[in-house]
Amino acid sequence: MIRKPHELMICQICKEKKKLNEVLSGELVRPSLVEMIQKKYPDWSSEGFICRADLNRFRTDYIQNLVEKEMGELSTLELDVMRSMKDQELLSKNVNVEFDRTATIGERVADKVAEFGGSWGFITTFTVVIVGWIIMNSIVLFLRPFDPYPFILLNLVLSCVAAFQAPIIMMSQNRQEAKDRLRSEHDYQINLKAELEIRHLNEKLDHLLAQQWQRLVEIQQIQMDLMEELARKTPRELGG
Ligand SMILES: [Zn+2]
Repeated sequence: MIRKPHELMICQICKEKKKLNEVLSGELVRPSLVEMIQKKYPDWSSEGFICRADLNRFRTDYIQNLVEKEMGELSTLELDVMRSMKDQELLSKNVNVEFDRTATIGERVADKVAEFGGSWGFITTFTVVIVGWIIMNSIVLFLRPFDPYPFILLNLVLSCVAAFQAPIIMMSQNRQEAKDRLRSEHDYQINLKAELEIRHLNEKLDHLLAQQWQRLVEIQQIQMDLMEELARKTPRELGG
């Protein structure tokens, strides 16, 4: 049957009238989904139509059931994935940018200090300062050194630097760890979503192939019938 584009179809689920481009033929719904729909709506028929919004809702429920069955209770991570599939929005984001945006001033300073503390620049500067200090107090200010041998003041300064540097580096490390955790969580979500989408696509493709095969067999049957009829008619017409 040929349908006009502006013709209104009735969705079997919400019973509302919808345009042809807002509905999908019941035949195109995958068997696994049909099973689920029939549980809630026993009078479902593949001859009718279903609107995309309802189909999307069933699809989300189906995927959620599937994941729940395999993983047990769902965490917020998995629920986020479900929501993004339902709303058909992107899940991918740049974790680094997000993480840097939420950093406080103290955390930023800690990062900068840790970065400088672990560089050749720091080692060079420090070597120059220490050697300079020792030379000043041994040669230049030999007569009136402010920190004579064995450089006790220098010792104190170095201890203080070490005492401050350790917690700052730890702070920066904690932040790095938090960032890594966030990144791995995000990777997990993307992987889960990709896996579910691919499975969904696979099922859909199988369903379409099977349906097309069925159609092909039907068409072939009709052609055979026509040919048989033709074969039966022709000799009679020729002879008559
Ligand atoms: Zn509907």
